[in-house]
Amino acid sequence: MTSPVWHPFTQHGLAEPIPLVTHAEGAALHTADGRRVVDAISSWWVTTHGHRHPRISAAIAEQAARLDQIIFAGWTHEPAERLARGLRRIMPETLAYVFFSDSGSTSVEVALKMALGYWANRNEPRHRILVLEHSYHGDTIGAMSVGARGVFNAPYAPLLFDVGVIPFPHGDGQATLDALEAAAQDHPAAFIVEPLILGAGGMLTYPPRLLAEMRAVCERHGVLFIADEVMTGWGRTGTLLACEQAGVTPDLLCLSKGLTGGSLPLAVTMATEPIYDAHLSTDRARMFFHSSSYTANPIACAAAVANLEVWRDEPVLDRVADLACRQRERLDGLATLPGVRNPRALGTIAAVDLEDAQGGYLSDLAPRLLARFRDADLLLRPLGNTVYVMPPYCIDDADLDRIYAAIGEAAEDIAR
Ligand code: PMP
Repeated sequence: MTSPVWHPFTQHGLAEPIPLVTHAEGAALHTADGRRVVDAISSWWVTTHGHRHPRISAAIAEQAARLDQIIFAGWTHEPAERLARGLRRIMPETLAYVFFSDSGSTSVEVALKMALGYWANRNEPRHRILVLEHSYHGDTIGAMSVGARGVFNAPYAPLLFDVGVIPFPHGDGQATLDALEAAAQDHPAAFIVEPLILGAGGMLTYPPRLLAEMRAVCERHGVLFIADEVMTGWGRTGTLLACEQAGVTPDLLCLSKGLTGGSLPLAVTMATEPIYDAHLSTDRARMFFHSSSYTANPIACAAAVANLEVWRDEPVLDRVADLACRQRERLDGLATLPGVRNPRALGTIAAVDLEDAQGGYLSDLAPRLLARFRDADLLLRPLGNTVYVMPPYCIDDADLDRIYAAIGEAAEDIAR
């Protein structure tokens, strides 16, 4: 019998076998047919500490037995208050206000709306958003508008709003800085970036110096700077935030994925005092109108509080540095194989491009690789011809070896 579940990113009607996962721990997934699968991408980049970190699981169970859900407009609860205070302690000091939502895409929508609201409430309306070429910020209409246009959002293209696209930095990045400088003259509302690495756009890296210089251009022209750290946050790139490596503090910061250690959906947008103040008034028209049913769900907030405790009590960044080093060795081994191009790594993220005549998102290489890795009991999801590894920080050497051996074999088969 076919399943009534409509699966994302799946070619319906092609009878793809979809593994049914029953339980997981650490870097391992277990399927109904008894397979142990290595989760090489932290289940879409979320499970930073691995599946079911004991402290986070315990916090979830405890909170579920106490308060499961409460409207978060005009009411609050202890986990949300503790989480906001905890975030203020470890995030840049100027990001003084925490706004809750429930997914990475929504945290981006909130940041965009706050940026536009900031200008509107100062009676200097600005509407244009600047974006970096090849970016990805989510799948809602606003988040798609500030992301790369391609086959996946083509049906909605007429609805996506117009943005200023700044070319992705190559070489010394001067062309990017010049384009940003020129675009900043026209009083855009904000510039949104994925710091140091563009994820879904192909794991494309650029140096911290350029992030700092892009920030400086925005500052000079009074353009709000939005850092989307939905993927890069929580140690992924070697530091708690990728922005730290460039000494950059954004005006708005989007966090999700590893916020709860990848256990439950939750997101925050952190904002500076001037942005908060611009929405502060007895005039109801200046209020920030954004809410959703599950905003700041208490169980998800309790999971995030437990994540902060893990960060406080465990050597998370040492684990990150160790994993970065262990991946680097294996990536160096891959780099010498035929068919492997552009090996690159940033913190716990490693990627290579495999030679592919067709290339791009519509190439059938990615689905073929996906099936091949799935048959080898590996969760790896190539982006076009880019294969990346983004494992939980607890992954052991044996599982890493399996991942890199499978990528090497795939590269050799393709090059043959
Ligand atoms: N921004 C970035 C940089 C992301 O990588 C993602 C998700 N991959 C999102 C936003 C959207 O997050 P979500 O899927 O939770 O909506």
